[in-house]
Amino acid sequence: MSDRAFSTKILHAKFLKADAHGSLHMPVYDNVTFEFKTAEELELAFKGKSPAHMYSRISNPTVEHFEQRLKAVTGAAGVLALASGMAAIANTLLTIAKAGDNIITSRHLFGNTYSLLEQTLKEWGLETRYADLTQAGEVARLFDGRTKAIFLETITNPQLEVADILALSAVARPAGVLIIADTTMTPPYLFSAKAFGVDVEVISSTKWISGGATSLGGVIIDHGSYDWARNAKLATDAKKFGPFAFISRLRREVHRNTGACLSAHNAYLQSLGLETLALRVDQSCANTLKIAEFLQASGLARSVHYPGLASSPYYAAARAQFGDKPGAVLTFDLTSKEQCFKFINALQLLRRATNLHDNRSLVIHPASTIFGEYDAAQLQLMGVRDTMVRVSVGIEEGRDLIADIQQSLEASA
Ligand SMILES: *Cc1c(COP(=O)(O)O)cnc(C)c1O
Repeated sequence: MSDRAFSTKILHAKFLKADAHGSLHMPVYDNVTFEFKTAEELELAFKGKSPAHMYSRISNPTVEHFEQRLKAVTGAAGVLALASGMAAIANTLLTIAKAGDNIITSRHLFGNTYSLLEQTLKEWGLETRYADLTQAGEVARLFDGRTKAIFLETITNPQLEVADILALSAVARPAGVLIIADTTMTPPYLFSAKAFGVDVEVISSTKWISGGATSLGGVIIDHGSYDWARNAKLATDAKKFGPFAFISRLRREVHRNTGACLSAHNAYLQSLGLETLALRVDQSCANTLKIAEFLQASGLARSVHYPGLASSPYYAAARAQFGDKPGAVLTFDLTSKEQCFKFINALQLLRRATNLHDNRSLVIHPASTIFGEYDAAQLQLMGVRDTMVRVSVGIEEGRDLIADIQQSLEASA
């Protein structure tokens, strides 16, 4: 079984309990509560001594099946599905750290993650230290006894930087520092996070996994590679639960107390999304490279940025970690904000929308939208240029996308 491919494992992952009617899809258990035959069985379930579901905020068969499928393809120690990507990130940090601790990350972060660290968690006493994560030596100099984790995004957006995670792992491992990676842009199938030293993966499954933006969702994957006894907050859990210390603290405390559970309906949609993830990733990545190469050859853009282009400073790191699938987001620069707007307005096929990894190709001008609240100096620090257009490439036929981009660039030149 273990040498079977991603899609095979996803499609044939077993139900934990056989369906009463032999349904091939795990049904949507859209109920809140589950009944028990006896008071004794209820007591056992509440003590965590039987695997039964009791209440859907805590666990639910449809959500559990989605988690089990991800477990089957990643071989993880534990998988937890939540209401959104932000819920996955917040629950992970709330579980591994407490006031007085610090984590290390890049300033090139998803906006709400940055705000979670700089506002919400800062007020509760978690310190965030910023470094260039492509420089492992610089990162190691920030470690102290209260450093709990390095938090990285495998491809930053819209800078499209790729850190060498093995190099980060080489400094983090001996220091007992956990590596958390937001792999939204490079989910399982595209990237084997554990093989590169990632201990815990957090994913906005809203994006690629959901089947192309069908529903909100988030996933936490614990790869079982970190020794939880090295985390002071989880030391007691580590004595009791060993490699399952993190996932059990998460399930028994933080996840149920914060209530950001995935709904059964969304779990169903996300589970369907997993069935076609590999096909969609292949098509989108192939399209992205074709578009990037077209843009480079055409001379219609001032510069083109994609880790899959040999001209990218991150080409080698992307190649090593993501093989021939270095994501499906590219950016390019035109001469001015005005030209970017003209280009975006002249598009007939690509959609003007935020979000990533919809099945449709989406285009946006990051500086005036996602980063609209920042001034010029802050934008420069964040690597966001006024002349930059971002494209999240979908699964349409590549030549149709290129034709639309070409006509629109010519119309706006
Ligand atoms: C979208 C996104 C998130 C947040 O996910 P939601 O599902 O919208 O909460 C986090 N990280 C990255 C990299 C994202 O693109």
